[in-house]
Amino acid sequence: MELTIKKAGKLKPKPEDESKLGFGRLFTDHMFNMDYNPEKGWHNPRIEPYSSFDMDPATMVLHYGQAIFEGLKAYRTDKGDIQLFRPQENFHRANSSNRLLCIPQIDEHFALDALKELLRVEKDWIPSAPGTSLYIRPTIIATDVFLGVRASDTYRFFIILSPVGAYYPEGFNPVKIWVTVRHVRAVRGGIGEAKTPGNYAASLVAGEQAHKEGFTQVLWLDGVEQRYVEEVGSMNIFFYIDGELVTPALNGSILPGVTRDSVIALARMWDIPCTERRVAIEEIMNAQKDGKDIEVFGTGTAAVISPVGTIRFRDDTVILNDNKVGPITQKFYDALTDIQYGRVEDPLGWIE
Ligand code: PMP
Repeated sequence: MELTIKKAGKLKPKPEDESKLGFGRLFTDHMFNMDYNPEKGWHNPRIEPYSSFDMDPATMVLHYGQAIFEGLKAYRTDKGDIQLFRPQENFHRANSSNRLLCIPQIDEHFALDALKELLRVEKDWIPSAPGTSLYIRPTIIATDVFLGVRASDTYRFFIILSPVGAYYPEGFNPVKIWVTVRHVRAVRGGIGEAKTPGNYAASLVAGEQAHKEGFTQVLWLDGVEQRYVEEVGSMNIFFYIDGELVTPALNGSILPGVTRDSVIALARMWDIPCTERRVAIEEIMNAQKDGKDIEVFGTGTAAVISPVGTIRFRDDTVILNDNKVGPITQKFYDALTDIQYGRVEDPLGWIE
């Protein structure tokens, strides 16, 4: 397949103040598009001017949510080079999501090459202020115009790019999380391990409740017993308990995060014991009372590492580590961001 490139005639002004970028509001001049139908398979890959697309109101994705997406970033190094962090993992996960959503597989290598070409076209959009990056959103949607419930025959795969600001403009501070016992995000046998819109729609009501209660994020428990920790907000979660790193095992309802996998790999490299297992919420709520040292942090592309300072579960609230960032949390944050921004050698071959 040959990738065609059509450049925009007129370019948008680039953001002047990179400290005001925020997240996901600005988009670059070009996008990648590719279509699927059963006769041609994936075809007509193209980079073209960023634009809205016409959609029939009966387009399937609008009704039944048959779609998947990804999220990764391009980073500008101090030398001005552009780096991607483990991008093949995102296209690999896209194909795992595709399988669960009955969307045809994409060629992961082709998709990554197309992304790199798009980044070459848009390189001037990659910001350089500390902590900024270019967020990359590959997405696949079902495009049949039909209201019957079945998998679509046709699809659109697109990639859009958005310059984003530093996640921690006010510094790397612990967040407050609220354990919901009323809602679950996903269940085993469902689509929780896919990156698909329905999971995010399912998370909104509890998220709003958490905000109303004065918390930043929801901590999700399993959908069967509502006892075992799954994820925090849209991040995976780690506990460092008495010298051992623990994270919920991938059980079918947890999204397999690239950052999660990277934290586990760094822990192995540093000889920190690391276990993937079930983690009961009581174990975490009682850890300090039981005299254990504990740090808790979330992991994800957006924040990289998000330290947790407060957890509320029913009527019980624990403050962790005096609401300060723990040394292990800081160590993972520094190591990952140093690799992503090219400030250190790339010890595990993660940079492209
Ligand atoms: N869980 C959910 C539900 C997410 O949306 C994300 C963000 N993609 C993650 C975990 C973290 O995944 P990653 O480290 O690949 O960004």
